[in-house]
Amino acid sequence: MSSRPKLSVYWASSCSGCEIAVVNLHEKLLELDEHFDLVFCPCLMDTKKADVEAMPDGDIAITLFNGAIRTEENEEMAELLRRKSKLLVAYGACSFQGGIPALSNFHSRDDHFRTIYGDNLSLENPARVAPRRRTEVPEGTLDLPAFYETVKTLAQCVKVDYFLPGCPPAPHQVWNVMEGIISGRPLPPREA
Ligand code: SF4
Repeated sequence: MSSRPKLSVYWASSCSGCEIAVVNLHEKLLELDEHFDLVFCPCLMDTKKADVEAMPDGDIAITLFNGAIRTEENEEMAELLRRKSKLLVAYGACSFQGGIPALSNFHSRDDHFRTIYGDNLSLENPARVAPRRRTEVPEGTLDLPAFYETVKTLAQCVKVDYFLPGCPPAPHQVWNVMEGIISGRPLPPREA
């Protein structure tokens, strides 16, 4: 088993550009790998939610959480990763302040569903079917996470230790965070 501190990078309501910012660390990725054990990153690896659930609380040294909170699943993952992480970073504009997904807060959930599944003639959906929380089909019950009325920031759902703004944060900013932890220097005071 690796003795390196564990790192996770999670996306909620996100475009995945924040993950690309990590990839854009280029050769610094090798240094990152020397110092951290990447244990959870759905964009890059197949670790399951159940694997995270099985970890002791606080087992992950740092989680970079990108994307806003749009659905019940996003919030559930925020709570899970908060519990499992010593440091939780709201990583990127969407996680920090809602970003582009939060522009949808100018309209209601019903407006969105009407526009996307009702009035959208480019979508092949003659019955105008919209996603539902629960659907009975011959094979059983299909469950979808609830789609919230509004988009929330990460800090509106769980306690956040640090905020790293940017859309996405620039690679040198990401590296400053990781390098600060690697160096062992005292970290800046956490958000109250
Ligand atoms: Fe994408 Fe920007 Fe949001 Fe990151 S902050 S997930 S790059 S829209």
